[in-house]
Amino acid sequence: MSRASAISNAEQYFDEGGFFADLARRVAIPTESQNPARGAELERYLAGEIGPSFAKLGFTWKTYPNPKPPYGPFLVAERIEDPKLVTVFTYGHGDVIRGQEGSWRAGLDPWKLTREGDRLYGRGTADNKGQHSINLAAISAALAARGKLGFNVKVLYETGEETGSPGLREFCGANKNLLKADVLIASDGPRVAPSRPTIFLGTRGAFNLDLVVDLRAGGHHSGNWGGLLANPGIILAQALATITGAKGEIRIPEWRPNTLTAVVRETLAGLEIDGGEGAPEIDRDWGEPGLTPTERVIGWSSFGQAGERHSAARELPLPAALRGRHRSQRHHPGAAAPPHQGRLSDGEGHALTRRVLCRDPA
Ligand SMILES: [Zn+2]
Repeated sequence: MSRASAISNAEQYFDEGGFFADLARRVAIPTESQNPARGAELERYLAGEIGPSFAKLGFTWKTYPNPKPPYGPFLVAERIEDPKLVTVFTYGHGDVIRGQEGSWRAGLDPWKLTREGDRLYGRGTADNKGQHSINLAAISAALAARGKLGFNVKVLYETGEETGSPGLREFCGANKNLLKADVLIASDGPRVAPSRPTIFLGTRGAFNLDLVVDLRAGGHHSGNWGGLLANPGIILAQALATITGAKGEIRIPEWRPNTLTAVVRETLAGLEIDGGEGAPEIDRDWGEPGLTPTERVIGWSSFGQAGERHSAARELPLPAALRGRHRSQRHHPGAAAPPHQGRLSDGEGHALTRRVLCRDPA
């Protein structure tokens, strides 16, 4: 049985340290696409590591410059057994986010693969060097077992995924024939839970936008002008409140999906999203009422405020906390002031919101 022997080849590769050695070599190449000084490492990863790894499996390969300089190159590899066979297209990205050397726990280094118990640490182990190393190993295990795959493979690696894939659309558009295939099978992104192997049949898209309220040139003294001039912060808050309700549920009818059918809900019913150890606890009452957390993330849309404005469009973390500086102005000594500490409350001390706290300016 070639299937059983392919699986046993894969297990042997893992158990005898082949996977660790291959991944360690790849992790050691600091392919930070968010760091312009690493351009040569991106090239080295494709031409010195990935291309030769595919060549060993009977693939031809070539790197291509990015149509949008100075961004990183692409690699295309292929193994055509018979043009009449089905062609599988697979994708990987050789770049990683910044290594953040010095921010790792003692004993860990972003560019040195480290084993602790049954976990491997190193930049790219979970995104995407681990995944594409597994796919490479799977092709190798199948070839070793039966001498052929029984299908053709085309491979595209990019080196800018962590900066929003600059040039990817243009490169694919200009190379349609080169990349022509029947089915895309690729590994990137999370599992629903660490213990649950997951196949997604589609992937979420995202739109980034800045909401801007630009009312006038220059700031004005709030003692003189507060209450006379419209306040952009308040206008922005009201705008956000027209987009979502207090729990993040989307209010704009056209932004709400109509694809969460009974069949989809039934399919999702057995899935529990679980980020595993160290992951944040899911807010079960956040988002669209009446949906499970799994339905909200896989079957619905969300809208959120990103943490800060970063230089790269992709760096939009969901913040853990936000703090805004506000000022309440008054002439009437009898009017209640907002509390300096504690829950935001009305004049009689009744809390107005559950989660917003007042604090003295930091
Ligand atoms: Zn990725």
